[in-house]
Amino acid sequence: MEIPTTAVDIAWNVRNNIVKATDVVEQHLAAIAEREPEVHAFNLVLADEARARAAEIDDAVSVGRDPGLLAGVPVALKDNMCTRGIPTTCSSKILGDWRPPYDATVVTRLVEAGAIVVGKTNLDEFAMGSSTENSAFGPTRNPLDTSRVPGGSSGGSSAAVAAKFASLGFGSDTGGSIRQPAALCGVVGVKPTYGAVSRLGLIAFGSSLDQIGPFAHTVADAALALEAISGHDPGDSTSIQQGPLQLTRQLDMGVAGLRVGRITDLPTGASPDVEERVEVAFDALRAAGAEIVDVEVPAFTYGLTAYYLIAPAEASSNLARFDGVRFGMRVDAPDTNAMYMATRTEGFGDEVKRRIMLGTYALSAGYYDAYYGRAQKVRRLIANDFAAAYEQADVLVLPSSPSVAFEIGDKASDPLAMYLCDTYTIPSNLTGDPAMSVPYGTGEHGLPVGVQVIAPALHDDVMFRTAATLERSLG
Ligand code: GLN
Repeated sequence: MEIPTTAVDIAWNVRNNIVKATDVVEQHLAAIAEREPEVHAFNLVLADEARARAAEIDDAVSVGRDPGLLAGVPVALKDNMCTRGIPTTCSSKILGDWRPPYDATVVTRLVEAGAIVVGKTNLDEFAMGSSTENSAFGPTRNPLDTSRVPGGSSGGSSAAVAAKFASLGFGSDTGGSIRQPAALCGVVGVKPTYGAVSRLGLIAFGSSLDQIGPFAHTVADAALALEAISGHDPGDSTSIQQGPLQLTRQLDMGVAGLRVGRITDLPTGASPDVEERVEVAFDALRAAGAEIVDVEVPAFTYGLTAYYLIAPAEASSNLARFDGVRFGMRVDAPDTNAMYMATRTEGFGDEVKRRIMLGTYALSAGYYDAYYGRAQKVRRLIANDFAAAYEQADVLVLPSSPSVAFEIGDKASDPLAMYLCDTYTIPSNLTGDPAMSVPYGTGEHGLPVGVQVIAPALHDDVMFRTAATLERSLG
């Protein structure tokens, strides 16, 4: 019997005692053994733990107990999600060998649903970056072409799914860190509505922007993953007071009569191969019965600027806790201030320092109104513009990333070029709206192109229907 790779198939087969979780895990560990040395998706592989957990799942099934929605599904967790007793590094030196005393809510829910954690994945340090090159432990490579980046910052999780090291990956998306790597690795990546998934135990970057979501082989897998991890959590004050998202039931409803918006004043910069695939997506949606409408979102273009003030401002505050006292590493010095300085100088990488400086500057007396205050006003303008667009359209369709995967080193010494990778993903972080990337054919060098679907907050189900229609249109 062939071992399935999608989460839907694995869970169904394991729950019905057709396939053993132990065999599913062995197949994924074998893929890791073969290709992980060249890909470097993981900071830590949890092979023994995964085997033990798989045996527990098989035992449960054999005595007639249902292990849950994700029974036997191997999952890879971005290494900024707390795992009890297991190192959680944010791919930074500053956390040293810190082991969290608790599991993130997402981790608890995955385990309760019968999923099997196979490892903690690499990321840009503290999730700051778009290529996974900013990791203190070296870059992750794109499994489709190892001379190229997998995108970032959740590049380890997207590469792990693309390389079939795991059936599902989990990442965090503050400015595109799930959708952009999903696009570059040819997998599905979802940032649900802000507040739909608990952030408890996610090490904070920009708290008003951060959202956890899945990487998956299929749209249905991503829906299943979100049904397992979403829903209110009293431990996160920004968690929405409602039950889990309901996505799988409507997946096959199609888009007949749905109004799909094309943003006519989108910032330029997408390469022609990407634009061409987005046009094909509009054609496919029209053929499936959707009405394509032109909408304007004039403030979209200011998203990048506003984000690169707001996100660093929040990061400079969130990262103040890493001071050599409470977590991980310490560089000793004669007095406390010198110890803080030595620890942070040694512990943080260049990009993290850049963000802390940008953020501290934007928040400082005398500059607060001009930078942080203004950026917040722009954030409001963007939300207003999207609200107006949603009067005319139920969902919006646009590129996920301006280009296909680029070469390792291409943008590493040019922060601004790296930031421009996030042009199309950032606005929905600023508004809190759900957004997802669906693999939609290939562009330059035969590399995958992702098409992005955005919907109004709490309309994740309509976004998923649109994405499922796109997926089906590829056959
Ligand atoms: N690339 C963006 C940044 O560097 C987004 C990061 C993210 O979503 N975590 O800030």
